[in-house]
Amino acid sequence: MVHTIYGNPKALQTLTFLKESGRLCHAYLITGEQGLGKKTFARRMAAQILCKNREAAPCGECESCVKIEAGAHPDFIPYDGAGAKNSIHIAEVRAIRSDAFIRPNESEYKVYAVYDCDNMTIGAANALLKVLEEPPRYAVFLLTCKNPGSLPETIRSRCVEIPLAPVGDGDCKRALDALAPDSSEEERARAAAACGGNIGAGLTMLKEGSAQEVLSIAGDIAAAISQPSEYELLSQLARCGTDRMKTAAVFEQLIRLLRGAMLQKAAGSPGEDELQRALCARLTLEDFIGVIQAVQEARDGIDKNAGPALLCTWVSAQIKSIV
Ligand SMILES: [Zn+2]
Repeated sequence: MVHTIYGNPKALQTLTFLKESGRLCHAYLITGEQGLGKKTFARRMAAQILCKNREAAPCGECESCVKIEAGAHPDFIPYDGAGAKNSIHIAEVRAIRSDAFIRPNESEYKVYAVYDCDNMTIGAANALLKVLEEPPRYAVFLLTCKNPGSLPETIRSRCVEIPLAPVGDGDCKRALDALAPDSSEEERARAAAACGGNIGAGLTMLKEGSAQEVLSIAGDIAAAISQPSEYELLSQLARCGTDRMKTAAVFEQLIRLLRGAMLQKAAGSPGEDELQRALCARLTLEDFIGVIQAVQEARDGIDKNAGPALLCTWVSAQIKSIV
C-alpha cells in the first residue's frame, strides 16, 4: 500500500474529502514538528491525486502509484531545501516556476512538493507567492514546514493548512511494528514508550538504539527533581546534549513520569514505584503542576527553534524556583 498514514484522523479527512468531492485546491501546507511524517503525507497525497484508479485512489497498484512509490513519477516533483539546511532558495522556486508552465507528462495534474519551507529567504517567498497567485490549472503545490508562523501570511493564506500531530500509543506501536520489522518486539515497545507519538523519532531511536537512553535520562532527571541538589539536576539535564529530537523525547517522557506521579499523589497513594514515591514525598500537587508546566514550556521551545542547552538550563532554574 502506498504510504500508510497512522493516526491523524483530521488530516486524513482532507484526503477523504478530496477523494469524495474531487475538489482540489492549488496549494496545501502540511505542518508539524520533525518526525511526524510531513513528507510521507505529501507523497500519499500526490499518489491520491495522480492515481489512475479513481474509485480506490491511491490504489497502490496502478502505473502511477507504482512510479510514486519508486520515486520516479514524472508529474510528481519534490523539492528539498538543497542549499542551506532547511531552506528553499530563490533559484529552486524559479526552477519550479519555469517547470510549472510545461504541461503534465502523463497525468491530469502536476504535483510539486516543496519540503521544509521554514526560513525561506524573502526573495524565495516572493517568487513562490507569484506561482501560488497564478498557478497553471493543472498544478498542485504541497508545501511542508515545521512552524507555519515562519511563513509569510501572504503564502499561508493561499494554502489549505493540514496540521499533523503525534499519534496515540496504539498507532505508534503499529507504525513501528510495520516500519521497523527487523528490530525486536522489546526494542519497538521501548521506542514507542519513549518517542511520545512521534513515529519518526521512534524510528530514529530504533536505528540509533537510543530509546533506552531517553527513558534512562528522563528517569534520572525525575529522580534529580526529587533531590535537593541543583547541580545533580543540571548535570542530568545536560545529558540531553544538543540533539533536538532526543531532547524533545526526554522532555515528553519526563512529563509522562511526572503526570504519573502526580496522579498517585492526588489519589493519596504513592504506590510501589520508588521514583514515584520519592517525587510524591518532595512535591506538593501545586509543585507538580508548576514543574510539568515548565517542562512543557521547554518542550514547546524545541519547536520554536530554541537551543536544547539553553532550554535545559532554563528549565532547571524554573524547577529549582518551585521545588
Ligand atoms: Zn493507483
